[in-house]
Amino acid sequence: MKRLEQMTLSERLYLPEILKGMLVTNYHFMRNLTLHVAHLMGFAKNRRAATTVQYPEQRKNYSDGYRGSHRLTLKPDGSVRCTSCFLCATACPAQCIYIEAGESPDPHVEKFPLRYEIDTLRCIYCGFCVEACPCDAIRMDTYVHPRIWGFDRKDFIEPKEVLMHRSQVLEQNGRDGNMREMQDWYAEQARQVYNPLRAELKTYSERDEPQPWDKRPEPHAIAAIDRHHLRNGGK
Ligand code: SF4
Ligand code: SF4
Repeated sequence: MKRLEQMTLSERLYLPEILKGMLVTNYHFMRNLTLHVAHLMGFAKNRRAATTVQYPEQRKNYSDGYRGSHRLTLKPDGSVRCTSCFLCATACPAQCIYIEAGESPDPHVEKFPLRYEIDTLRCIYCGFCVEACPCDAIRMDTYVHPRIWGFDRKDFIEPKEVLMHRSQVLEQNGRDGNMREMQDWYAEQARQVYNPLRAELKTYSERDEPQPWDKRPEPHAIAAIDRHHLRNGGK
C-alpha cells in the first residue's frame, strides 16, 4: 500500500481513482451481459462469459486442503479421542475453545473432555488448534464451511456433540456428507422459521425438535458464552 506522500495528485483526489474503478466494473458488467445475450441467441459461443454460482442450490467443491469446520476425531469404539490436554485452547489466538476436563472412564487414559466448545463467532479458522494437538484429536477436514445462519450467540457455539457428530457423518456419508447435512439444515430452518400464513419469524424456542445435527445445550449450559461474558465484566 502506498503512503500518502508517495501518492500522485490524482490518487490523492480519490475521485479519478473511483471513476477508474467504476469503468472497470462497468466494462465487465456490459461485456458479460452482451455475451450472455449473444449466447442465448446462438452467437459468440466460443467466447466465455462470467457466471455466478447460485448458492445454495449450486456449489463448488472445496479443494482437498480446504480448512473447514472443526471435528473431534473418534476412537474405534466411537468415544472421543481428545485427552483434555488444553494445548489447542492454549494455542488458539482467538481464545475461542472452552474445555472442561473429567476423569476418563478408560483406565489407560487420564482425562477426557466433559465439555468441549468452540465459539465459531470468534474463531478465525487459522488451524493452530489442529497443529497443536498431539493426538490428532481435532481436525478441520470436514469440507464444510462454518454455518452462517443463527438467531443468537448460542447458535454459533459448537459443543462436543456437534464436533463428534461431524466425524461420524464423514465416516458414514463420505466427504460431502457434512455439507449435505448443513444444506438440509438450512432448508429445514427455512421451512420452520418462515410461516407464509403469518409472514413472521419464529423465535429459536418456537422451532420444532432439533435434528441430530442441531443438538445444542440449553443457553445457561453454554460455558463459552459465560466465560467471555465474565471476562468482559458481564457486558
Ligand atoms: S482455528 Fe484457530 S481460532 Fe479457530 S479454534 Fe482453532 S486455533 Fe482457535
Ligand atoms: S483436541 Fe487435542 S490439543 Fe485439544 S485438548 Fe484435546 S487432545 Fe489436547
